[in-house]
This record gives sequence, structure tokens and C-alpha cells, in this order.
Amino acid sequence: MKAFLPNESLIPWLKDLSSSLEVIAPVDVEGEAVYQTWKGQPPALVGNTLSSPIEVLMPRTEVLFRYVQDSGRYTFDEPKVPTRIVVGMKPCDLKAVAILDRIFGSEPTDHPYLAKRRSTLLVSLNCTDPGPWCFCAIMDSGPDAQEGFDLALTDIGSGYLAEAGSAAGVLLIKGCSSGLFLEADGSHEASRDILLENARSVMAEKYGDRSVGHLRRAIRSADWEYLGRQCLRCGGCSFICPVCHCFSIADLGVPDGERVRCRDTCLLSGFSRMTNGANPLGSIGERMRNWYLDKFEHLPERTGLIGCVGCGRCDEICLAQIDRWRLEVLDERSRQQRQQHK
Ligand code: SF4
Ligand code: SF4
Repeated sequence: MKAFLPNESLIPWLKDLSSSLEVIAPVDVEGEAVYQTWKGQPPALVGNTLSSPIEVLMPRTEVLFRYVQDSGRYTFDEPKVPTRIVVGMKPCDLKAVAILDRIFGSEPTDHPYLAKRRSTLLVSLNCTDPGPWCFCAIMDSGPDAQEGFDLALTDIGSGYLAEAGSAAGVLLIKGCSSGLFLEADGSHEASRDILLENARSVMAEKYGDRSVGHLRRAIRSADWEYLGRQCLRCGGCSFICPVCHCFSIADLGVPDGERVRCRDTCLLSGFSRMTNGANPLGSIGERMRNWYLDKFEHLPERTGLIGCVGCGRCDEICLAQIDRWRLEVLDERSRQQRQQHK
């Protein structure tokens, strides 16, 4: 089912949704678009966001359950999962959700992730204006959403072409106040096609030299010790990646307390260090190589999907200016050229 949402109907539609669901949408926070619970402000439905909405499903820190001991017996209390809708998720992040679904949905399944996933509707926003670091078209994860969305929006100027991808998506159109969505026609679809084709050409022009095969060969020949010396060991590239999913667990409190999970990364030495002090990934160069091997070799073997969706966040955030695809350090001039939009 397709429909057209005029610009002036966007906020009334979000208000409609927020009467029964928690709406999470990107809003402007000090000049940066950040996904938050929507409270009536104009949504920042523009280019990609530095922080991924994947945090709705995989928060940086979360309480898995609370435990209470009484006369030697424990009782457990899991936090309630609200019903939510994420509006504006980019196709690259949507593909990351598909990868996480396979990882956390395979045995042994990850109940806290799946509980959040089942109670979250996804409204994606196709990318008509890719950012300077985006290469989703090369990774086959954008600029338009292929699957996994309930509703896919495309900003065609005067409003949004909305396409339902599930029965819930049809309800998002049909179940809202009348008059918000109008009938879509061929001109709306033609505008969408032109804008998306343009986005593909922009990325092909900029990053057409990137391919998974090329990167796999580069992983075998890269100078990991050199790259390791450049790396500042901040872990930023991993913490910001919508596909990275390593975590640590701690029980806080004895005898009563909370079991807490927080994001972790294989790039930090403590992740692989064992209790006797030995570390199979002792140098940062080895850990960087492991990070790549996991994304481009091990994860595809386990899930059939590559562990990168081309969002470009790791390139954008790296203070050491390591080009994650050429496996080399960018000089300042190359970096500035990269940042020039289009
Ligand atoms: S590896 Fe980099 S470009 Fe790929 S999904 Fe992760 S942050 Fe995005
Ligand atoms: S963001 Fe750059 S400097 Fe930080 S850990 Fe990743 S590669 Fe190293």
C-alpha cells in the first residue's frame, strides 16, 4: 500500500501516533540530530545521524533484571518493555537491525533484545541526500529500504511518499486521523525514483572503488602494527557502529541488586584479557585485524550477512583519521575533500 503524507501533515501524524505509542524520532540537540522520545518538536528528518537509532534496541547500558533475595531464594523482576515506533530510521540502520535479528535471534536467543525488537515498529526514511561518509549503495543496504520496515518514507519535496512493508505499516496509514494521508500517484513514485537514482550516483562517484572483495584482500596484506600505532584506542569506531554488538555483564549489588549489560568492544584490551593476565589479542593491531575479520569473514559465515552496512560512521568519528576501507591514514587534504558534500 502506498500513500502521500504532505509536509504539513507530518507533525499531526506524529501527534496521532504518540497518543498510543512512544514515538522516537531524530530531533535537533545543539545542532546535532539525535534520536529521542518525540515531544512535539520539529523532527530532524535529514541526513544520517552520528548516533544510530539501533540504541533503542541495544542501549549502551541496560538493566536486564532486578534480583531480590529472601531467605536464600531469589526472585527476578524484568523491566517492562514499552511499545515504541522509531520514525526516520535510515536504510543502513534498518539493514543493521536485520543483521542483529539474525545474531540475537539464533540459539541461544537473546531475550532482552528480542523483547524490545518485538515491541518496536520501524518507519524508515529513504536517503535522497547521502552524507559525505555514506556508502550504503556499495554495501547493498541503501539508499532505499528493501525489507524489514513497517513503513518506508521518501521525502519528495512537498511531502513524503509512504510505502507499507507490513500489516502494521498499513495500519499506520489507515488507522490515523482521516485526511492526513492522501492518495499517492505515479508522479510521487517518479520523483522518488529520480531522487534515489541521484543518491546512488553520488555514492558510486565517490566510493565506487570500494568492494568487499578488495577489502578482504587488504585485510590480508595490511600493516596492522602500523595502523595499531596510529589508533588512539578510543573504541569510538566500534561503539558507534550499528552492527557491533559486543557487551559485558555485571551484577550490581549483593544480596539484592541489578544485572546490568553495557556495550563493550573487542578493540579494547580488557575485552579479550583473561583472568590470568594472558591476552590472545594483546596488541591493538591484532585487535583491529580481528574487528575486520569478524565483520567480513566470521559474521558472514555465521549469518550470511556482512557486518558492515556502509553508514560511514566509523570513518567519520575516527580521530586518528584511519580510512577504514583503504586501511591507511588519511592526510588532512584527503579528509577535507571527503567531507565536502557531493
Ligand atoms: S563498520 Fe563502519 S561503515 Fe560499516 S556499519 Fe560499522 S560504523 Fe558503519
Ligand atoms: S575510532 Fe579510530 S582511533 Fe578510535 S579505536 Fe577506532 S580506529 Fe582507533
